[in-house]
Amino acid sequence: MSRYWSPIVDQLSPYVPGEQPRIDNLIKLNTNENPYGPSPKVIEAINNVVGDGLRLYPDPSSTGLRETVADYYGLTAEQVFVGNGSDEVLAHAFFAFFQQSRPLLFPDITYSFYPVYCRLYGIEYQTVPLDNTFKLDLEPYVQDNGGIVFPNPNAPTGCLLSLQRIDRLLERNRDSVVVIDEAYIDFGGESAVALVNRYPNLLVTQTLSKSRALAGLRIGLAMGSSELIEALVRVKDSFNSYPIDHIAAAAATASFNDEDYFRKVCHRIIESRELLSSKLRTLGFQVLPSAANFVFAHHPSRDASVIAAKLREQGVIVRHFRQPRIDGHLRITIGTPTQNQRLIEALESLQLSA
Ligand SMILES: *Cc1c(COP(=O)(O)O)cnc(C)c1O
Repeated sequence: MSRYWSPIVDQLSPYVPGEQPRIDNLIKLNTNENPYGPSPKVIEAINNVVGDGLRLYPDPSSTGLRETVADYYGLTAEQVFVGNGSDEVLAHAFFAFFQQSRPLLFPDITYSFYPVYCRLYGIEYQTVPLDNTFKLDLEPYVQDNGGIVFPNPNAPTGCLLSLQRIDRLLERNRDSVVVIDEAYIDFGGESAVALVNRYPNLLVTQTLSKSRALAGLRIGLAMGSSELIEALVRVKDSFNSYPIDHIAAAAATASFNDEDYFRKVCHRIIESRELLSSKLRTLGFQVLPSAANFVFAHHPSRDASVIAAKLREQGVIVRHFRQPRIDGHLRITIGTPTQNQRLIEALESLQLSA
């Protein structure tokens, strides 16, 4: 607390991201980054844009990138919004849609940035508990609300909802905005972008940080009706007109234009996820079925925070959340086959089942 602060600053409880240690040779399986680099065509596009042109401001509406994404999903550019990471896109969406007289609904176990935005913007919210197998049941969301938000697949559980279940919810929730955070949809799910033309109150957010390996460039997307997108543009232009720089725009466009590379990398990660899940089960872990680039695992006889600390001593970092219901779990990002093997060897050395 400082006498110089606006009063609300004292009330904030900021999001704590997974650590980015400044140590080499760590097996970093804690923040769901892609273990493979971006497409070589992305690197080429970045190299081509680095030069004298950087003295100019970028296009404030990122028209080229929005057209590329619109083509990719069969939408118009007026149905696409881009921002500086999907965290920023989500922040704008919370501001634009969820400051309502009725509470926003989201799961009790979910992306921990949602309550942070609520505190920042004074949004009233109500959490809806996942069932005892950590599945998201959409039935309780059909009630009077000021908005609904959830990731699909959910984070940090990795559990996927079918498009059919989402469609059912949207059919019955017409009066408030539903935001579906598809940060991990490319690892095995079916995108709700397919429903955007049917539901004017649906906003789908995505990120280029995970499946497209561009976390360091900060690019996020939202797809929805032009009515919703216009609200996001109004908020953006009241905050920062140029969220996407020249380099990020060129890289993101090139990524969407290299479908082969994208598919190949996603496929590799999915295969590694299945292999890692079965090896973890052999070591006694209970592993939730995941449709993401991470798994959520619980060992019945060993404290999760102790496992995480011991792995760290061996140079392997995974994520542990000190939070009710999930403090017995570890969230483990899928790495390369070599990294995953190093994790398994480190776990074997702990003699967990003994
Ligand atoms: C990683 C993640 C984001 C944020 O992605 P950025 O585009 O890197 O800001 C949003 N939602 C969920 C559920 C995530 O896991």
